[in-house]
Amino acid sequence: MGILEVKGVNKRFGGLQALGDVNLSIADNVCHAIIGPNGAGKSTLLNCLVGKLIPDTGSVSFKGNSVLGRSPHEINQMGISRVFQTPEIFGDLSVLENMMIPCFAKRDGYFKLNAISDVMAQRDMVEKAEHMLEEMNMANKKDMMASSMSRGDKRRLEIGMCLAQEPSLLLLDEPTAGMARADTNNTIDLLKQIKDERDITIAIIEHDMHVVFSLADRITVLAQGTPLVEDTPENIKGHPKVREAYLGE
Ligand code: ADP
Ligand code: MG
Repeated sequence: MGILEVKGVNKRFGGLQALGDVNLSIADNVCHAIIGPNGAGKSTLLNCLVGKLIPDTGSVSFKGNSVLGRSPHEINQMGISRVFQTPEIFGDLSVLENMMIPCFAKRDGYFKLNAISDVMAQRDMVEKAEHMLEEMNMANKKDMMASSMSRGDKRRLEIGMCLAQEPSLLLLDEPTAGMARADTNNTIDLLKQIKDERDITIAIIEHDMHVVFSLADRITVLAQGTPLVEDTPENIKGHPKVREAYLGE
């Protein structure tokens, strides 16, 4: 059994069937990519995994426990962390203050924004956040305003903020969308490093095939809300149905 098991998930938006009978098993400690054309249902699927959406039917379990009916916050506490399609950092806080947020969330199970000023005094949280920034290779940027950083660095911070919660499953929704090639390559290197150094499972939705083939151990192709095929990157590359549905050949 995988760390994440999705069985028979359906999700409709009015007359539109966004997900149709999705079955997906993500094995522990792999990087599993979910690819597919725009509108295939990738983000909807991710939203069903983190409690942002509730499937109409089907089941989703993480480490053997159902996530359905739990709030995004509870699911996060279970060990699933998610990076959104657009960076979700606090632009008017410094990089260090941003990194303190998940450190508090991990310790206390919740976070209040107004806690930051009180807590700058709490050395251990500052130290934990600084340590995490060092691991992300961002220690020299800790006093910068988060909004003033490049897209790639914002993403790097956001990924670090997820890791500070010590998740066992990291979900990434198009982490390199809108990035210049150099930032994309830096993000690939960062994710490779995370994969090698941590005891973590990564599920990544990605449009950029260079990113997918650089990182993925398994690939699921989603088309019109239903998994078309799941296989190794080598087999996916040559799969005629995939070339037709996804690469437009
Ligand atoms: P992807 O991430 O693969 O591009 P999405 O999961 O965002 O696809 O969307 C799948 C389909 O569901 C699309 O047709 C989209 O327009 C539709 N959709 C997504 N979210 C909503 C929503 N909240 N309300 C109505 N339709 C939605
Ligand atoms: Mg999407």
